[in-house]
Amino acid sequence: TDAFAFASGLAAEGAALDLLDKDSHIIAVDDLYGGTYRLFERVRKKTSGLEITYVDMTDAENVRKAIRPNTKMVWVETPSNPLLRLVDLKAAAAIAKEHGLISVADNTFASPRLQNPLKFGFDIVLHSTTKYINGHSDIIGGALITADAEIAERLRFVQNASGAIAGAFDSFLAHRGLKTLGIRVERQSSSAIEIARYLESHPAVEAVIYPGLPSHPQHDLAKRQMKDGFGGIIAVRLKGNINQVVAKLKKLQFFVIAESLGAVESLVDHPAIMTHASIPKDVREKSGITDGLIRLSVGIEDLADLKADLEQALQD
Ligand code: PLP
Repeated sequence: TDAFAFASGLAAEGAALDLLDKDSHIIAVDDLYGGTYRLFERVRKKTSGLEITYVDMTDAENVRKAIRPNTKMVWVETPSNPLLRLVDLKAAAAIAKEHGLISVADNTFASPRLQNPLKFGFDIVLHSTTKYINGHSDIIGGALITADAEIAERLRFVQNASGAIAGAFDSFLAHRGLKTLGIRVERQSSSAIEIARYLESHPAVEAVIYPGLPSHPQHDLAKRQMKDGFGGIIAVRLKGNINQVVAKLKKLQFFVIAESLGAVESLVDHPAIMTHASIPKDVREKSGITDGLIRLSVGIEDLADLKADLEQALQD
């Protein structure tokens, strides 16, 4: 029923956290965008006494086990950034509801075209509109969407009180992007599954992580809670050491090395040295963000060009 536009995805996250009183505890998925982790760990812990427990939510029951007397919120990302792990939205929302916790789903990776967490009972959906919603790599923006009138009222107050609103021109650009969201995401998803299949049989590749592949451990869940495709993001473990991996990325011509994702142009990210560098190395590696991991964001270019680009870059 209500949506609030912010100056960035992180500003939207800040507003969602501002619903909490100080010294609250939140339960977050253990595979989070690095900037979200930084906001929790290096800002809110210090300024709001926020307590966070990171749990493996591939089993939603782990959420229940982590609940404490001061737990107020459950925070999920599905598919997660960068390892594309899924959270069972229906199960997580039910546990949150049962215990009176506000549930927040970062739906940035899936986009509203492929997944609607409100339908599974989530209270708040969060988007970095910088990504799929805008889709043209020319704004930074965020959004919070809710179907709960009381939460909407509180968010309206927080947004007005703290002020990280979306600017008028950025809103105009995001609105322009929204008009093609459907066809962009359909194309990105259909190209991504082809690329994922191609990479899975490539000798330079150790593993491909993509919810649309039967090899993904949560493929059945992806089929249940995502519709009409599995998104444009593919995580790939390449063989070789960090220097060999980076050398391959530098050979790519269509896939531009950049931190963002979800745009019409294909992008490639090296999480360990880019988007997730703010997570300590030991924590990062324990969660599977190793030096050989790359993240592809498949754009809307000609699929044959994208495949040919990967082919030439992966050759030794
Ligand atoms: N959530 C996810 C899943 C993201 O990937 C990002 C940014 O990469 C954000 C939130 C933060 O969004 P923004 O860069 O718009 O502040």
